[in-house]
Amino acid sequence: MALLDKFDNVRQQREALLASGVDPFHVPVEAVHSATRARIDGREVILAGTNNYLGLTFDDQCHRAAREALADQGTGTTGSPLANGSYHDHRALEAELAGFFGREQGLLFATGYQANLGMLASLAGPGDVILLDSDCHASIYDGCQLSGADIVRFRHNDPASLEKRLRRLGDRVSRTLIVVEGLYSMLGDTAPLERIAELKREYGAYLMVDEAHSLGVYGATGRGVAESLGVEASVDFVVGTFSKSLAGVGGFCVSNYEVLETLRYASRPYIFTASPAPSVVAGVRAALGVLRQSPELLDRLWANAEALYGALDELGYQLGPEVSPVIAVLVDTRDEAIALWQGLLEQGVYANLVLPPATPEGKALLRCSVSAAHTAEEIRWISDGFARLTTGREPFALADAR
Ligand code: PMP
Repeated sequence: MALLDKFDNVRQQREALLASGVDPFHVPVEAVHSATRARIDGREVILAGTNNYLGLTFDDQCHRAAREALADQGTGTTGSPLANGSYHDHRALEAELAGFFGREQGLLFATGYQANLGMLASLAGPGDVILLDSDCHASIYDGCQLSGADIVRFRHNDPASLEKRLRRLGDRVSRTLIVVEGLYSMLGDTAPLERIAELKREYGAYLMVDEAHSLGVYGATGRGVAESLGVEASVDFVVGTFSKSLAGVGGFCVSNYEVLETLRYASRPYIFTASPAPSVVAGVRAALGVLRQSPELLDRLWANAEALYGALDELGYQLGPEVSPVIAVLVDTRDEAIALWQGLLEQGVYANLVLPPATPEGKALLRCSVSAAHTAEEIRWISDGFARLTTGREPFALADAR
């Protein structure tokens, strides 16, 4: 086999997709008007497939802070945090995140992907064990691989499957890290963290929770699923991203373990990349401030989640198992999913198409996500888009949607 032959399969799949007249995975957004509106292919659309859960990408405070940092500190740091890339604001954000989560240490990464890579590849090494939920994000899988540890998967959201594996580990459990997510972004389901935390304590393993999709979404103060289930004390490492509720880009880990400081000298994905741009750091600090001051954003987000989930359920769609801001619409075939995605776009609704192998259990799905910034009218427009495709119902009039 020649070097490039390994891409044949992917190329054939891509060509088949393009032959159907669309490339749903590379849709250029021509203009972004707000957290919920954009123009795609000349058409005004409602964004129903972002991770902008709190709608802060156009928040005044975030914009002001980002603009000021841009003017004061320039467009980029041009360097590693270990060299010239640690500014006062990077350290301030680390301290603010640690404070927000009630932890002693915080560490910034260039992205959430690198946070998982950096934490897993340095915490675990050859001879250690990582026990991970089978539906974990690619960045967790990649971090596991980079670590060189023994990787053991347990069945998604199945504590009995986790316990079986913990029991089998015997003495090795003290060098075992359990890794799960708070909210899983494909089906919109949450981890049974109470039982997982109980098992972690009972067996004496460590626990890392990736709250990428649940920060700013779950818990009374938005700290995530561990907060909402009251088990934060059992979580050793919280990992997250700025690219969703906090409307920026970057990643982090917070913990009470001092090892986080040591990782500044040992974690290659932390060291060998430039630190986040000052405008991004300032925007994220402002977003964290907005989250702290505005619990009503979570109320609005959840009202929208309930409304869209309820409407799609009533239309008879097969949905993910829980109401959450990630609403997965499951369909039987890949072609059906593509047709639904395209039909929605024609109705002025942009959602995410997710096809196997990226989906759990080989299902094809349309992933809608709601934002606190969606108006009730926009939520109705989204559900009406689905309704028109299934029942041919006439659209209700959305004042200024088009
Ligand atoms: N963890 C999880 C669970 C995610 O879903 C994602 C992104 N979708 C990431 C990490 C990576 O985040 P980032 O976009 O900041 O790289």
